[in-house]
Order: sequence, then structure tokens, then C-alpha cells
Amino acid sequence: MYIQSKLPNVGTTIFTVMSQLAVEHNAVNLGQGFPDFMMSEELTDLVAKAMRDGFNQYAHMNGLPLLRERLSEKVAQLYQINIHPDTQITVTPGGTYAIYTALTTVLQPGDEVIVFEPAYDSYIPNIEVNGGVAVRIALQYPDYSIPWDEVRAKLTSKTRVIMINSPHNPTGSVLSEQDIVELRSIVTNTNILILSDEVYEHLIYDGITHQSILRHADLLERSFVCFSFGKTYHCTGWKLGYCIASPSLMAEFRKIHQFNCFTCDTPKQVALAAHITHKEAYLSLGTMLQEKRDYFRSLMANTAFKLIPSHGSYFECYSFEGLSNLADKDLAIYLTKHHGVATVPVSAFYKDSTDNQVLRFCFAKQKNTLDKAIEGLVSFKA
Ligand code: PMP
Ligand code: GLN
Repeated sequence: MYIQSKLPNVGTTIFTVMSQLAVEHNAVNLGQGFPDFMMSEELTDLVAKAMRDGFNQYAHMNGLPLLRERLSEKVAQLYQINIHPDTQITVTPGGTYAIYTALTTVLQPGDEVIVFEPAYDSYIPNIEVNGGVAVRIALQYPDYSIPWDEVRAKLTSKTRVIMINSPHNPTGSVLSEQDIVELRSIVTNTNILILSDEVYEHLIYDGITHQSILRHADLLERSFVCFSFGKTYHCTGWKLGYCIASPSLMAEFRKIHQFNCFTCDTPKQVALAAHITHKEAYLSLGTMLQEKRDYFRSLMANTAFKLIPSHGSYFECYSFEGLSNLADKDLAIYLTKHHGVATVPVSAFYKDSTDNQVLRFCFAKQKNTLDKAIEGLVSFKA
């Protein structure tokens, strides 16, 4: 049988490729972004309890009402905004799905979407499968900041969405207040929407404040803001997240959602609705992960890799300029096979495979995992 591929140039995601290679070579996996430490026992107990208590049938299509109410309370406290739980929040099977659904909701064939590269690898295929055109703009190496003048220069009558992601995957860069000022000056009085990927909202370090779109009621009017419980509660395998938008955008989002996923895992939503009241669980995340980042940084200082400093996410990027002439993808494979450490080559986050000789390392790991990785990396020299 023959079908015409909707994504003819797309292969297998780099996360799967590197994780598989790590398994094959018994390497420490600092590639794919997931914690290797346990999630909260209290939260897993709450899931078991929810199942025993009989919460095993379909939850409300838009998400368990109590969970949406508590999310509304959470964002009111964090970002000083009133979000209506009935009309503005939808629980989704992960942040990735929320992003895909938002793009499917708004894109018409030929619509342009501004995407900053390196970009999380689902963004461009999500745009293209929906008939959109990705207008790619490179973040400025090495601080990975947004070149706003270039954004202005690339606006056309077809620009439909600007996608932002802070804290950023893969670079860990974060948006500043000035970035929000620039964004606002570009979109005001236009029909341009914003898709804000904020799955790492709590993973921000060095005393910096997360610049959520939810802090700005005027920007939220034109935005879909996407979150992931997997990142907040160390359970990436749960694949649960949510999207927040204005009532009119959310009404359209739900038309797509209802015929795709319809509703998400009930017992986990019941458990999260109870657990989310423990603010400490998410308010302490930045400190906990910054400790890991700082520990990893101190270990990496003993290797030949050069840090590209950043302030958020699960990741830090390191340059291998002057150490190897290999393409970053080849070096990532070499390090996995010969030094027992899997990473992710940052060229995988550029459609044209731009190679700045940078590797991404996930530091959301136990201390002994990071120690073991460094044992392998110190012997890598020019
Ligand atoms: N966006 C970014 C930038 C991510 O790193 C992730 C994590 N995979 C997601 C979205 C989506 O997370 P999930 O679908 O696992 O909730
Ligand atoms: N977000 C994680 C990463 O960037 C993994 C996502 C995935 O495997 N699709 O590594």
C-alpha cells in the first residue's frame, strides 16, 4: 500500500535515538530530558487511592473540575491573573499535545508561524502537518537571546503565530521583562497570536522571575499558554498537562480536543487536584534543581567542555569548540559509545542542522548518576 507522507523529511526524534543508543551501550543517559529520581510518594499514593475509591471512569472533557479550579487558584497566586476554570483551562495529555492542539486550532494552509531555533523538536513538524509555514529565526549564539529586529523584519500579512518558550529547551535561556516589552510592541494592534510553551515555569534559577504570559492580561487575550505536570511533579511518563487561553480561543481549542483525546486519565487528575494544594512542592523546585545544576557545573569544570551559562530548564549546554572536529551528532554518538555518556546534539533542534559545536546535557539526575557521567567525560580531551 502507498500513502503520501505528511512529513516526508521527518525521521525518528533525537530523544528516542539517543536514549536507545544509551541503552545499547549501557551509557549514562544525560540526553533525553527526564528525572531519574523518584516522584512524590504521597502523589503516587493518591493515585492508588483514587483508583480504589472508584475514580476510574471518564473525567469531564475539559479536565476534572476540581483540578481546573485549583489550577486557577494556583495561577492567581503566582501570576496575579483571574483565569476562569470553566472557560479558560483544558487538561491535556501532556504539554506537547497542548501545543499541537493549539496550532491545529488556529492554522490555515499557508499561515506563517515564527519559530526560534534551536526549537523543541515537535514545533516545526506540528506547524507543517497543519499546513503552516515555519518562519525560522536563529536565537543569537551564544546567549540564545531573541533578535527582535529580525522578528520585525520577518513579519508578513500571513504571520499568524509567534511561538515562545521560556525557560527554553534545549538552551536553558530565559526571557526577560524587556523581551515581553518587545513582543508586546510587535503584536499590539495586529492579528498575531502567541503560543507560549511554559512547561519549565518552575525550573528557573539564580533569583530570576519567570516571565509568564499569564502576568499580562492583554497578551493572554491572544495566547495559548501550555504547561506540563510531568515537569512539575517529576513524572514525565504520566503525560499530563494543560493549556490556558482566553475564552474565545479556548472554545475553538476544545472543538479539536474533544474529537482527538476527549478526556484525560481520571485517577491522576483526582490525585493532582489534592496534591496541588501543597505549594511547597512546586515552590521548592527551583532551589532543588538549581542545586543539581550547580553540582553538575562544578563537576563539568573538571572536563574540557566549555559552559554556555543559562538560567532555567532541565538542561545546560556545553561547547566543544576546539576539542573535536566531529559534527555534534557524531560526537554525541562517539561519547555514548566510548565515554559512556549520552547527550543530545543541539543541531537536532535546527531544521537545517546548524552545528555550533554544542551538546545539551540533562542535569535532572541523582548525584551518583552525575558523578558517574563525569567519570566518563573527564577522559575526553582535544
Ligand atoms: N515543551 C518542551 C520545551 C519540552 O521540553 C517538553 C518536554 N518534553 C514539552 C513541551 C512537553 O512535555 P509533555 O508533553 O511531556 O508534557
Ligand atoms: N522534553 C524532553 C527533552 O527535551 C523529552 C521529550 C521527548 O522525549 N519527546 O529531552
